[in-house]
Amino acid sequence: MPKSWSVTIVRIVIALVSGALVGALYESVAGGMLVATLAMLVWHLYHLYRLSHFLQTNDFEDFPMGQGIWPEVFARVSFYRLRSRRRGKRLRAVLKEFRKSASAFPDAAVILSSGNEAVYFNKAARELLGLKKGVDRGQRIENLVRAPQFVEYLHTENFDDPLEFPLPPTNNIWVLCRVVPYGPEQQLLIMQDITRKKMLETMRRDFVANASHELRTPLTVITGYLDVLADDPGLAPDVKAPLLEMSRQSLRMRILLEDLLRLSELESSESSSKENPVDVAALMSAARQAAKALDSCPAEIEIVADSSASIFGEQSELQSVVSNLVVNAANHTETAGRITMHWWTDENGGYLTVEDTGIGLAKADVPRITERFYRVDAGRSRDQGGTGLGLAIVKHALNRHEAQLSIVSELGVGSTFTCAFPKDRIKQ
Ligand code: ADP
Repeated sequence: MPKSWSVTIVRIVIALVSGALVGALYESVAGGMLVATLAMLVWHLYHLYRLSHFLQTNDFEDFPMGQGIWPEVFARVSFYRLRSRRRGKRLRAVLKEFRKSASAFPDAAVILSSGNEAVYFNKAARELLGLKKGVDRGQRIENLVRAPQFVEYLHTENFDDPLEFPLPPTNNIWVLCRVVPYGPEQQLLIMQDITRKKMLETMRRDFVANASHELRTPLTVITGYLDVLADDPGLAPDVKAPLLEMSRQSLRMRILLEDLLRLSELESSESSSKENPVDVAALMSAARQAAKALDSCPAEIEIVADSSASIFGEQSELQSVVSNLVVNAANHTETAGRITMHWWTDENGGYLTVEDTGIGLAKADVPRITERFYRVDAGRSRDQGGTGLGLAIVKHALNRHEAQLSIVSELGVGSTFTCAFPKDRIKQ
């Protein structure tokens, strides 16, 4: 027991005994003890009053010392008050720094509560999203940023991928939005102005589309003349071979331009129609026909349709997806190998796989082969008439159907390309 407490207990005992002795002189021991108890009570009440006064005024000059256990109580209270003051000061400084750095942050940052209310937002958020300091704090973010894509994104609560969307009401400014949950309830919303990036993307797309379009007409004329010349029976043999090669190369250029045009068309439109159901079995048999027409094609191309469901979408785009995958598989598989197309559905959607027992891909190539013009073996691809754009077309056509392409491959064993369609694209 601390010394101050044992001294206090001894004092209480002495006070009670003294009270009893004085009381005995007046023939009332109990009365004497009661008077002593009341005196102690008044004394402690006085110190309690001083403590309460000290807490109210926080006046350290007038710091009470007291007697008995009270100096210790006062000292302790004073110590905790000082400590919490110092902590408060430090917290205020940190908060000030945070506010200063958040204001200097070039992207809009909004702290959202569990109910999606804007608890705090920085200067960039005020400028980019038009939020007002005194008015919009505490408002739901859906009421402040009224873009349907954004509201839907917030409600899906899947923030693995960021969202790009145009800001209403003008839709002239594009933003990239990220939601970072932190703590059990709060989330940090970050929006970056990507208008310039979007503009450059559009310019690049338009340039490729226009250049391809402009090149197509002269190339058609050149190809036409080359074909006529190459067919001339009176042509000297040493001229015929170069003419045939020129004709072959101009045809390759035409195919390349067609692919570039198709790619820019796919890129420029958002989502394909959901009205027409496309028969998947028909897509697979047409793709098999296309592969069979190749010079070297595996003898075995199997079709396994475990579902009669169709896909809501664009027939020509879906056909180009399946045909590209199957022709690729045929180009990279020995004639003794096997290709299997498989279609099935489950409660999450529909899946179309193209599996081959061909040369496969190295791990490092898998994430890159859907890039434009990326080829593992450029010479082989050109010999087979490839443009290096096939899988880029596949990826964009699938994007327009909200479908995902995944690739599993092993060198020397084979590859499996899977197209996963969401359930609202499936017609059972
Ligand atoms: P390409 O016109 O060259 O076929 P793609 O975009 O269709 O262009 O394919 C890109 C590259 O991916 C190909 O050059 C090839 O190296 C590789 N690839 C595509 N499909 C397969 C496959 N089934 N097996 C092995 N490699 C493949």
